[in-house]
Amino acid sequence: MSQQDQFREMVESYALGALDAEERASFEAHLAACAECAQAVEEARLVVSELAHLAPVTQPAKRVKERILQEVRSEGTVKTQPRVVPSGVPWWLWAGVAALIVLSVYSTWNARKLQNEIRRLNEQAALEHRRRETLEKEFVAAQMQARILTDPRSKKIMLPAKDPNMPQLEAMWNPELGICLMGHEVPMPSENRAFQLWLIPKAPGSKPMPVHAMMWPDADGKLMHVVEKLPEPMSDTKAIAVTEEPESGSLQPTSEPMWTGALS
Ligand SMILES: [Zn+2]
Repeated sequence: MSQQDQFREMVESYALGALDAEERASFEAHLAACAECAQAVEEARLVVSELAHLAPVTQPAKRVKERILQEVRSEGTVKTQPRVVPSGVPWWLWAGVAALIVLSVYSTWNARKLQNEIRRLNEQAALEHRRRETLEKEFVAAQMQARILTDPRSKKIMLPAKDPNMPQLEAMWNPELGICLMGHEVPMPSENRAFQLWLIPKAPGSKPMPVHAMMWPDADGKLMHVVEKLPEPMSDTKAIAVTEEPESGSLQPTSEPMWTGALS
């Protein structure tokens, strides 16, 4: 073994700070003269700092850490593999480095698992939030519906269907609270289309006023729709009508009214 080879074997130990004073002095003297070893030391230091960097940010439970260290120690005992241990580096230091690698793999795996868990929880929370918002909206609408239906100032409007095979709709209009439109066994509009409500003003020659809130029956054909803000007061309206329109809504009816109801 040449002297140069001996020095190359000391590079990792030196980078780990594991040389004794005498070895360190002679290695450093060599380093000053040998660019190759100096380069190797730089690289070894990078690896060491990388290991430190990879070390878990959040410490795993102490018991886990101890168990891993114990396993690494029992596998790398001096008795069974004394010659594998490089000169000048105590076996427990290598065991420590191995444990560090095990821990960083463990913590990377753990961090990924944790990230997935956090993502899953966030998705679940967002879903829960949307569900809750829908429920709240439905609750507010149901409350408003109840108020409109029970308020004595509300006016009932029947909307017979133009098509005799279609059910008739019923509306309750409260001058303060808004309008509630109801129907049963209402067929679903065609794809990408929805029902739209219109107010027909009393003023002669005036056009139907669009209500920008599209309506669909539910899966059971039940239609229940509350509109609080209307473009025209009840006193200025002579009739209400419902047409089928593109689901984005129309500014003026693009089809014949399917239901029309006059205000008496
Ligand atoms: Zn050298």
